[in-house]
Amino acid sequence: MSEESDKFQNPVAGFGVTFKAMFKKRLTEQYPEQQKVTAPRFHGRHQLNRHPDGLEKCIGCELCAWACPADAIYVEGADNTDEERYSPGERYGRVYQINYARCILCGLCIEACPTRALTMTNDFDLADSSRENLIYTKEQLLAGLDEGMVDSPHAIYPGMDEQDYYRGLVTEAAPGTVQQAAVSKDSEKDSEEDSEKDSADAPGAASGKKEKDAGVGA
Ligand code: SF4
Ligand code: SF4
Repeated sequence: MSEESDKFQNPVAGFGVTFKAMFKKRLTEQYPEQQKVTAPRFHGRHQLNRHPDGLEKCIGCELCAWACPADAIYVEGADNTDEERYSPGERYGRVYQINYARCILCGLCIEACPTRALTMTNDFDLADSSRENLIYTKEQLLAGLDEGMVDSPHAIYPGMDEQDYYRGLVTEAAPGTVQQAAVSKDSEKDSEEDSEKDSADAPGAASGKKEKDAGVGA
């Protein structure tokens, strides 16, 4: 073939690809207007589940954090008290964060969770332009309230123990269950600091320093 005919045919051949593509079925996805339906076991955003009476399943054990290959989970556990109870047993997850800038949605954390507190939803709308917004807090991850649930903190079902919750014997909140007044550890600390400051400011107060609080065990 001559050099002259190449000069003419090559651009036409290029347009041939364009023309062929014009009559093919479009593959464009109309996201976010049309959301794709995921497979039932798709690994999307995590969820912290509740017992049927509304108490939290997370016991703050940190096994999920240790199982995570991307170091994306941060957990701080704390003790329940009779006045402020978030889960049926001794401990609950006071602070729970997942960093979706790190998470690879592999699901190893949910396999490690001994109480099935942590599962994954089908929600894949996780992109954000801010790194800070990609750190999801416990409040964002905690499941909503279904019928028969009362938001934590509240008392354990009367006559039941922690094991009964895992045996499925508690199916809804006990009649008359009300949410306990939550006193967060931070506000407790703030008020302690305020009272310390007040007493230090008081005339004749001793100048000794109070031993530093070691914080809630992790
Ligand atoms: S899904 Fe995988 S990467 Fe994401 S938090 Fe769980 S263990 Fe870590
Ligand atoms: S989500 Fe599960 S594994 Fe993680 S701290 Fe809570 S109970 Fe433990």
